[in-house]
Amino acid sequence: MIAEILSVGTELLMGQIANTDAQYISRRLSELGVTLYRHTTVGDNPARVKEALGEALGRSDMVITTGGLGPTEDDLTKEMVGEYFRLPMQLHQPSLDEIERYMSRIGRPMTDNNRKQAYFPEGAIIMPNLCGTAPGCIVEQNGKAVAVLPGPPRELKDMFDRQLAPYLARRSGMHIESKFLRVFGIGESMLETMLIDLFHSDNPTLALYCGAGEVQARISARAETVEQAEALIEPLEKEIRSRVGDALYGYGVDNSMPNAVLQLLRRRGETVCFAESCTGGRMAASVIDSPGASDAVKESYITYSDAAKARILGVREATLQAHTAVSAECAREMAEGARRISSADWAVSVTGVAGPDGGTERTPVGTVFIGVAGADGVEVKEFHFRGNRDWVRTLACSNGLNLLRLRIIGG
Ligand code: ATP
Repeated sequence: MIAEILSVGTELLMGQIANTDAQYISRRLSELGVTLYRHTTVGDNPARVKEALGEALGRSDMVITTGGLGPTEDDLTKEMVGEYFRLPMQLHQPSLDEIERYMSRIGRPMTDNNRKQAYFPEGAIIMPNLCGTAPGCIVEQNGKAVAVLPGPPRELKDMFDRQLAPYLARRSGMHIESKFLRVFGIGESMLETMLIDLFHSDNPTLALYCGAGEVQARISARAETVEQAEALIEPLEKEIRSRVGDALYGYGVDNSMPNAVLQLLRRRGETVCFAESCTGGRMAASVIDSPGASDAVKESYITYSDAAKARILGVREATLQAHTAVSAECAREMAEGARRISSADWAVSVTGVAGPDGGTERTPVGTVFIGVAGADGVEVKEFHFRGNRDWVRTLACSNGLNLLRLRIIGG
């Protein structure tokens, strides 16, 4: 298969940004064994995009475009691909639903321009955007294909690796097998340093992606059969496992921390009770989101006020007076109390200042105390998270569950 890259963006022509997307795709294509003949760059000009597309398709089997997928008027790459192949633009309802969910999550109103991002040339294969709003697509006609990718490098990289690479491998008769290792508690740059010598291999390849407070390491191998690809992945996976130890908590894109903790508890036949303040029940809800949670979670408490912490969990008035509710002492008594009243094997407590108000000199916004109580006592850890209210609460939940996980496997 012969491929070309068509980069779209006036900023590229004006030298305002470097074409790192083309660099990334070129490197990955060579790893995938796809022959790349040319890079072309054009500005955000519909006629020139269409002309360049026609020239590239005249020479190659596959054209990969980047940029011009956004909501604004000059983002027209997809439309030009449709025009070139004489295909009408068609609404893709699942993409529209996903864009609406994304806009509501970030608190922005949905506009007609956003809606435009859910239209694709008829018959296109849709590639959901897991890191932004604009989905990509692949349009095939008469043995030729055009893959349309977003410009922002994070979005492009994710879409290429997870969605376009397997497609290219299938088309070129190879098999690509990927494995995602989920690592919690080691930052992206630290993990990169720990694994630095492992990034040089061409097959299998290793790449890191950041998730919500965690890092995912992807190992991909290319081979003629699944078994051969898996055999290439195994030694690298073993090496990574030995370097990161207990920070590796699971495998797979969908296997999140709450699910990993739930499966661990179920395997051991143990239960947990949560005593939550600033996370408002989110920690319990995240575990209960997975089917089978009733085996491990029987009850859980949201104790937001001091009075509720005292009345329901038995936190002592003296503790609240002397140390306040945002303290290691309070987290300790919350966890002890929750374990006592629920008779669960484990209890996890969270108390902190999610912000934007309520911070003090001693406990600034982002301060969170998490306690884990088990048969052998209570451990409390203090965290200082940075970010808005939602992010502080998200990190409090994932770190709370991770502390529970480490405690269980450590014991
Ligand atoms: P958006 O939804 O953000 O509008 P898009 O797919 O329309 O995305 P562009 O508008 O073309 O993409 O570019 C968005 C940003 O992505 C640019 O400002 C630039 O920072 C980055 N970008 C675009 N193309 C490239 C490239 N080839 N290499 C590196 N970065 C790029």
